[in-house]
Amino acid sequence: MKELLILSGKGGTGKTTITAALAVLYKDKIIADYDVDAPDLHILLKPEPITIMPFYSGFKAKILQDKCVKCGTCLEICNFEAITIENNDYFVKDTGCEGCGVCIKFCPENAIVSEINNCGEWFISETPFGIMAHAQLGIGEENSGKLVSTVKKNAKDIAKKNGINFIISDGPPGIGCPVISSISGVNLVLIVTEPTLSGLHDLNRVKLLADHFKVPSFVCINKFDINLSVSKEIENWCEISDSEVISKIPFDHYIDESIKKGIPITLYNKDAPSSKEIELMAHKIENILKKM
Ligand code: SF4
Ligand code: SF4
Repeated sequence: MKELLILSGKGGTGKTTITAALAVLYKDKIIADYDVDAPDLHILLKPEPITIMPFYSGFKAKILQDKCVKCGTCLEICNFEAITIENNDYFVKDTGCEGCGVCIKFCPENAIVSEINNCGEWFISETPFGIMAHAQLGIGEENSGKLVSTVKKNAKDIAKKNGINFIISDGPPGIGCPVISSISGVNLVLIVTEPTLSGLHDLNRVKLLADHFKVPSFVCINKFDINLSVSKEIENWCEISDSEVISKIPFDHYIDESIKKGIPITLYNKDAPSSKEIELMAHKIENILKKM
C-alpha cells in the first residue's frame, strides 16, 4: 500500500485544487481528506456519502434538571465559563466544556453527569473518481488529530477491502497535530507552495516536519510565474535543503474557471497549461512511488 500526502503548510496555495486534479488522473486509488476542520475537497470531488458515522471524543458535563437545586456552585467553580443560566435554569454550554469534571465532583446534589462527546461525523463516500474517506469536526470542537486518524484508518480499510494499493490524501493546513496525524505512515509528501515569502517560510516548516518523520518530500510551485524572482528563491532553497522541485505549475485562468464550476482542472480542460503540467507531475510521482 502506497500513500501520497499533499501538504502546504498554509492555506491558499492551491493544495486542494492540485489534490483534486491528481485524483482525477490516478485510476485505482482511494481518496482521503484529512482536513477535518474546514474540508473543501468535496467541492470539487462531489462525494455522495454511503456511510455516515458519529465521531465521539472526550467527555462533557450535563446538568440533570430534575436534580439541580440552582445553588450556583458549578457556575462559580467552572474555570472555562462553560456553565450558563437560561430562564433561571443552569446548563452546560454547547461549546466550552473541557470535561474536567470539577463541577461533577463539587455539585452538592450529584446533579451533573459526564456524557461522551459527539464532536463530529466521518463519512465514506462515492465520487465519480473513486471512494473517498473524509470527515467534519463540529464547530469549536477539538481532537482533530484523532478524527484524522479515524479517516486514515477508514481509507486504509477500504483500500484493503477493495484490493486497492494507493491512497491519495489532502492534508490539513499548518504543521500542528492534525498534520502530524496525517503524515504518519505515508510514503511520499508533495508540498504545494506558492512564490511568496510566506510560501517559502511555510515550505521550510513542512519540509522539516516531513524530514522529522523520515518521509521523502517533493515540492510543487504553484503559479510559479506570478513572481519569478521568489520562485527562483524557492528553487535555490530547495537545492540547498536537499529538496527537489518536481513541478512548476503556471498561472492559468482555466483553474479559476474550473474552481468556479466545481470541476477539477484536469477534467475541466485537459489541454490547459496547468493540466498538462499536473499530468506530467502525476507521472513523475507514479514513477517515484513505483521505485519505493
Ligand atoms: S452545582 Fe449542581 S445543584 Fe448547584 S446549580 Fe450546579 S448543577 Fe445545580
Ligand atoms: S466539566 Fe469542567 S469545563 Fe465542563 S462544565 Fe464542568 S467544570 Fe466546566
